[in-house]
Amino acid sequence: MTSADAPPLLVVEGLSKSYPSAADGPPVDVLSGVTLSLDRGESVAVVGPSGCGKSTLLNILGTLDTATAGTVRFLGQDLASMTQKQRARLRAQSIGFVFQEHHLLPQCSAMENVLIPTLASGIAQQGQADRAAELLDRVGLNDRKGHRPDQLSGGQRQRVALIRALINRPALLLVDEPTGALDGKTADQVIKLLIEMNQAEGTAMLMVTHATHLAHRLDRTLRLDRGVLLDEGAA
Ligand code: ADP
Ligand code: MG
Repeated sequence: MTSADAPPLLVVEGLSKSYPSAADGPPVDVLSGVTLSLDRGESVAVVGPSGCGKSTLLNILGTLDTATAGTVRFLGQDLASMTQKQRARLRAQSIGFVFQEHHLLPQCSAMENVLIPTLASGIAQQGQADRAAELLDRVGLNDRKGHRPDQLSGGQRQRVALIRALINRPALLLVDEPTGALDGKTADQVIKLLIEMNQAEGTAMLMVTHATHLAHRLDRTLRLDRGVLLDEGAA
């Protein structure tokens, strides 16, 4: 089968999410019929104002949260039809996350942090340390492998978090405002690196970002607007 015939990596249909209102009012609809199809290796920027539901969407796609309605098919499997254990395994093996905060373990070195997902993946350990070292080299951290997070700059910590997300060769990378805690110049460097590494690894990527000046480097941009994803076209 050629890649043109391959089914999409991710197919989302009619995805909705409501939260109970704080008072006695009606539920609050955050997502109301999101449709999305993502091919293997494709990179997509997701934009929209604060509070519009971007993180909610990424969390549902990453199996960290569940939808109120609709379907998510990832790697040909309907997430809702899987057991919690199956979803956890899928997440560990096939999905990488980069969040606004790096969430590195403070007592572990950069190298140890990168290797943590390999413990949960069930994938053979052999070669993982070599791969970790090679990836850290590629993002300019060759002399920082033994450093703890508090011995690294904000940009360096996010680079470690990026390599940790890629270590298991996930089919999908979910990135949620990765530079919200960084200054402008460092932020741009991290975004460029994310795109570069993502292309080198052939991973599909959904990235929530306010760096619209860099979004053109991704395959397309989608805007989350009143609960649905609108195509802003090829960038
Ligand atoms: P974004 O990432 O685009 O800033 P979020 O997905 O974090 O937006 O939030 C979307 C909306 O959903 C916000 O109004 C937020 O307050 C609400 N929300 C998020 N999580 C919860 C929750 N667990 N319970 C109730 N409301 C929530
Ligand atoms: Mg958010």
